[in-house]
Amino acid sequence: MPMSTSYQKRLSKILPQIVDTFGTPFHIYDEKGIKETCRKLTTAFENIEGFKEFFAVKALPNPSIMKIMQEMGFGFDCSSTPEIHLSRQIGSFKEDIMFTSNNTSSPQFEMATKNDGCILNLDDISLISKLIDIPDLICFRYNPGLRRNGNKIIGSPVESKYGVSHDQILDAYTQAKTLGVKRFGIHTMLASNELDYKYMVETTRMLLDIVELVCEELDITFEFINIGGGLGIPYTPDTKPFDLDSMTKEIVQLFKIFKNRNAWVPRLYMESGRYITGPHGALVTSVINHKNTYRKYVGVDASMSALMRPGMYDAYHHIHIHGKKESAAMKKVDVVGALCENIDKFAVQRKLPDTIEGDILVIHDTGAHGHAMGFNYNGHLRPKELLLRKDSSVELIRRAETMDDYFSTLTFEPKTLRF
Ligand SMILES: *Cc1c(COP(=O)(O)O)cnc(C)c1O
Repeated sequence: MPMSTSYQKRLSKILPQIVDTFGTPFHIYDEKGIKETCRKLTTAFENIEGFKEFFAVKALPNPSIMKIMQEMGFGFDCSSTPEIHLSRQIGSFKEDIMFTSNNTSSPQFEMATKNDGCILNLDDISLISKLIDIPDLICFRYNPGLRRNGNKIIGSPVESKYGVSHDQILDAYTQAKTLGVKRFGIHTMLASNELDYKYMVETTRMLLDIVELVCEELDITFEFINIGGGLGIPYTPDTKPFDLDSMTKEIVQLFKIFKNRNAWVPRLYMESGRYITGPHGALVTSVINHKNTYRKYVGVDASMSALMRPGMYDAYHHIHIHGKKESAAMKKVDVVGALCENIDKFAVQRKLPDTIEGDILVIHDTGAHGHAMGFNYNGHLRPKELLLRKDSSVELIRRAETMDDYFSTLTFEPKTLRF
């Protein structure tokens, strides 16, 4: 079931007052649900010593949410300098930050190495020579190429721009060791929104195999393997949720086998984003128009600047209308925003109850890669973000963008090159 029924119930009770106070559109996140999922993940891995989740900041880069993760003992996976900045701003430093960049620039390396640094996760063998200082600890992102299949969002590994290829991996660690690196990790991220837990088990097995191979050749050990993010959530009502318990059981088994063979084990790291916050966010928007042409359209006051996934990935997000029940009499409609792009639709030919202007639509599962992916094309501004606290208070955690924000880059020192 998308968006937990507990969250739906708690939100429904107070939704009209929230709308009155803050105005639509807004994303609203559920502190209780997020904490429960964090705890569930930690508990599922309690049999693996040193397990640690590095929340993928890009999924929901809001300091109020990140502080919840920090309280739960999580680190942060960052792939840009602003994401590192955000993590440091809330007080996470050093090895609580994993920097998984790709096509990394020198200024990015500089920023990442400052302030006691972070865990550098190198995307390519050529980047070793571009390091400013030689760090104590280095991780490489591994790309297995044809050895594995990818999935729809990320694509096949052999076509993906990420990671060090299989044939380069030994060389990569050899070079790092030669330069004086003492501690090692390995990382991969092959799937996105993957609902088959076995895929993640295979990824773990694959990394443990590479670790054995590299250790045998180079006489080093690994501090951790990082199996990436990519755990899926059920966006449609009939999708089965990800089987976390089966995954962890099988992964624990793989670690046991590794330990028996090698008398040591690396720690296990993960960097989930979607799984942690995805189901605990909703986009709330009001009906402002109805249009009957070749299709029936329900126009709302949010647009794809608030949620790109349906337009970008043809992704399904469940929608319910506050206070209205689903019935057999529901008619098919397209739910649309105001952008001059025909992909600006939250739902296409979706059966929904009849609506009138002013009705409130709740678009489910926008807690990850929702607000964060928003953009300003066509002068559309991004909405505010709210947090439903455990004590039922509702807090503004990001204001809506204004016209001044939109035009701020038009205020600058004049500069002209004349010939
Ligand atoms: C996007 C991303 C993640 C998080 O992916 P989810 O599907 O949200 O779990 C983790 N690691 C890397 C390197 C990423 O690019």
